[in-house]
Amino acid sequence: MHLVSDTIQTNAENEPDYSSLFSLLKSGFNTDKTRCIQWRKKQLQSLVSLLTEHQQEIKEALYRDLGKGETESWTAEIGYLLSDIRHTVKQLDSWADLRHVSTPLAAQPGRSYLQPEPLGVVLIIGAWNYPVQLLLAPLVAAIAAGNCAVLKPSELAPACSSLVARLIPQYLEQDTVAVVEGGKRETQGLLSLAWDHVFYTGGAQVGKIVMQAAAQHLTPVTLELGGKSPCVIDRSCNLTVTARRLVWGKWMNCGQTCIAPDYVLVDKHQVTAVIEALKAEIYRQYGNAPVASKDYGQIIHQRHYNRLCELLHEQNVVFGGERLPEQRKLAPTIVLNPDLNSPLMQEEIFGPILPIIVLENIEDSVAFIRHREKPLALYVFSEDHGFRDRLLSKTSAGSVCVNDTMMFMTNPALPFGGVGNSGMGRYHGKFGFDTFSHLKAVMVKSSKFDVKARYAPYSRWKLWLLKKLL
Ligand code: NAD
Repeated sequence: MHLVSDTIQTNAENEPDYSSLFSLLKSGFNTDKTRCIQWRKKQLQSLVSLLTEHQQEIKEALYRDLGKGETESWTAEIGYLLSDIRHTVKQLDSWADLRHVSTPLAAQPGRSYLQPEPLGVVLIIGAWNYPVQLLLAPLVAAIAAGNCAVLKPSELAPACSSLVARLIPQYLEQDTVAVVEGGKRETQGLLSLAWDHVFYTGGAQVGKIVMQAAAQHLTPVTLELGGKSPCVIDRSCNLTVTARRLVWGKWMNCGQTCIAPDYVLVDKHQVTAVIEALKAEIYRQYGNAPVASKDYGQIIHQRHYNRLCELLHEQNVVFGGERLPEQRKLAPTIVLNPDLNSPLMQEEIFGPILPIIVLENIEDSVAFIRHREKPLALYVFSEDHGFRDRLLSKTSAGSVCVNDTMMFMTNPALPFGGVGNSGMGRYHGKFGFDTFSHLKAVMVKSSKFDVKARYAPYSRWKLWLLKKLL
């Protein structure tokens, strides 16, 4: 039996050298076992066993790292993954099948198709906010597509990281999937290798480091980044439902969600009603003391907590702001009309603070959004189809949800990924399978019939015929 620790040396600069682990996985890939669809399904079923047999430990680890309650642990991590695997196993035969396409007259007689093939050995770097889901969902896609993978969980969610590192070798074959724990130094050691694909989830700064390292080997990358996702509330919306869904999407996981609404844009005539509806809904969902609610999580670590508290400095807090510093808890907080040049509106909040920006006219939201980096998600609450169409057609975002927040995540038929600064590449469902596959272009020609016009020596007649055929 190989253990990951057996395959790690340190090089002269005392940096971890993962080349032996990498070779182990390369040889696992070269056995060709991962090419077998039944084998892939069996690995995915093993992941189901891991998630169901260790459900309690996973929930406990999520609670230790993020104060995540039982319901959020199920819906956004364990249950989400189980449903992702179920869908993948069900669809795998059709995804992995040849994809036939037409063949032009000039290439007849012949047929053409795309043949999905695995990329090889891939690196998956996870983030801390959904530390199980964001690590294992790309793995589901990577295994489905027939790859071997190294997982690098985020060091900022240590309980989940060590649990995954302990469980994965018990359920998956060790020459096909391995876990490497650690932070910057370990990730950089991993990034020095010639992976067949790097799939990174996290912030844009590190995304640039990942891309730069991958460029040394011309390794393709998927960057699942973040950014400031706007939420536009139009006067025609159903305000009660809007507030309920906005509170759910904003304060789940204490606002530490890449697709959480980052700020709200409202019309000046509606701002008071929106704030009152949000307050009522926060109390309804989290009780009279939201900061102490058992359903309300905590901030991942002290640095992040301090950063969030500093974002509130000299801001017009109209609701919330209560803190429990020992538990790194910050209540659901609403800020009205922040200075657009303040850090609160310049950086991704990634926490439980919701700025509300009042516009003279809600139509100005188009210009407001277009003036900024392309977001990962855009939310619009409106019953006015004309307004919705204008907003959607004139702005860009990774994903859009109309009259709800985050729910597009539940549809595996929709791709998930950013655009511009919010990332590149996509996954979920078949899009994940395709991300970890090469769609090999194949043309099969018959040798029974041959148009000789394409061969030299050329003549005017041959050229005439080729012009007709091409
Ligand atoms: P993080 O600190 O956990 O870092 C992500 C990964 O990068 C970790 O595995 C970490 O070890 C590694 N890393 C950190 N510094 C590094 C360095 N200098 N060199 C190499 N590797 C390094 O996560 P984060 O960056 O704080 O995550 C928050 C960001 O991630 C937010 O912007 C959020 O929107 C985004 N995010 C995006 C998604 C998505 O699916 N698009 C999901 C979650 C989070």
